[in-house]
Amino acid sequence: MALKNETYTELETLLKKAYAVQAAMAVIEWDNETAAPKEAGELTSEMVGRLSGVYYEIMAGDDMGKLLKTCEKKQESQKNGQKDGSKASEKNMEELIKVRMVEEAKKERELLTCVPQEEFEEYTKLTSAAGKTWAKAKEQSDFSIFAPTLKKIIDFRKKLASYRQKDGQTIYEVMLGEFEESFPENKLDEFFDIIRKELVPFLDEIKKSGKAVDNSFLKGGYSEEKQRELAVMIAEYIGFDFDRGVLSVSAHPFTTSFHNKDVRMTTHYDDWADHSLFSVIHEGGHALYELGIDDRLTQTLLGQGASMAMHESQSRFVENMIGRSEAFWVPIYGKVQKLFPKQLGNVSLKEFTAAINRVEPGLIRTNADELTYSLHIMIRYELEKALMEEKIEVEDLEKVWADKYEEYLGIRPENAAEGVLQDIHWSQGSFGYFPSYALGSAFAAQIYEHMKEEIDVDSLLKEGKIGEVTDYLKEHIHRFGRLKDSRQILRDTTGEDFNPHYYVKYLKEKYGKLYGVSI
Ligand code: ZN
Repeated sequence: MALKNETYTELETLLKKAYAVQAAMAVIEWDNETAAPKEAGELTSEMVGRLSGVYYEIMAGDDMGKLLKTCEKKQESQKNGQKDGSKASEKNMEELIKVRMVEEAKKERELLTCVPQEEFEEYTKLTSAAGKTWAKAKEQSDFSIFAPTLKKIIDFRKKLASYRQKDGQTIYEVMLGEFEESFPENKLDEFFDIIRKELVPFLDEIKKSGKAVDNSFLKGGYSEEKQRELAVMIAEYIGFDFDRGVLSVSAHPFTTSFHNKDVRMTTHYDDWADHSLFSVIHEGGHALYELGIDDRLTQTLLGQGASMAMHESQSRFVENMIGRSEAFWVPIYGKVQKLFPKQLGNVSLKEFTAAINRVEPGLIRTNADELTYSLHIMIRYELEKALMEEKIEVEDLEKVWADKYEEYLGIRPENAAEGVLQDIHWSQGSFGYFPSYALGSAFAAQIYEHMKEEIDVDSLLKEGKIGEVTDYLKEHIHRFGRLKDSRQILRDTTGEDFNPHYYVKYLKEKYGKLYGVSI
């Protein structure tokens, strides 16, 4: 018995309507960050509030409920009549899309409706006001200004998570699952254990090596106009299609997508040439993911990255494995030198590559190099876990934060602004989000290791054939959108489940070589 198409088409139409509302909100959000005048904020956010109400009504409404139930029932009976083990043919792909679409829509509906509406509104108010309190506390570098609000957010967040808590699940695992569903908490514990045991002592070795890498030539005299020229050139070079994408400027670089023909990214220019440059390459990695999503999936709930971590794996792959390799710069470094003859004219490709890979333990996560980055994330993971398990109190947070930086990175923040108050995430209630950043880097390393067995990445990059490398990502990852979860993508692409040892191996080999440390 084939799934009757009318019901499914009706469901699809309703979901498209919901998607249109969501895309409208994303357009406004983009505009807010890049072009809107200063005073637009308040009235515009009221407008967004109304639109999100419309989205809620569609997704949580009775029509959606009925359609989902009917589709699910039909799919159930179809599944029972089917033999398993059939290879993914085109027909199966169409069927898989239908099944996954219903699953995702159900999940989204549950997520929206599992919390009593008044509580959700109260929570939204709390977190939107918290942004200002956090900013004030950070400006004055005084944690006590933010601590009472943070306490309220944590209590509320725990309560909200408890509505979705399943047997055997911790509260923190529920939160983690919002960003990376296919990783239970014990998998993450294992991952960060490996990072702690392997990378903390390795960083010590690097520090002890005493080798200084000069990067002073990356700062000073890089005009915004020339940096912009470089940004466009690099974006185009890595395959960002300006007929289907826009590059703009915002305070914090980000990427957003309305569908696979309109993907927008931003950068931010400052004194350091590598800041904007690597923002563009990083966001470019996110953008290639969105641009590569299959036409059948775009503008649907499946037309997005498999998870936060998988998205981050693609941006980090393009940024680090490609963009920070010497091979990547071989065909284009001459052009970059021509753009900045005064700063880079006498800097060799080797010196340039060393500079963009310089390791320096610092206090600020967003400025961290590739090697120390995951240690910043590990600290946040440990703290979030301890907070949710009530092993530490909000009042202790500033000190425990500083202790952990001293223990793992060998440096201690002198004030709260460069310590516990540096990230905006907790004021937004985003607990469980941070691990995605580190997991993404580890996914990227595993994909890279496997890719090198199939194609000669270094030679292709040296010959300027970067498209063949990014096509590999599109073929194995991008086009599937959210059709598979991230562990399935890893298994299908690399032939094995997630294995964090590739990440450690990649970092040790790369930085061991650069700093002359034997591993
Ligand atoms: Zn990113």
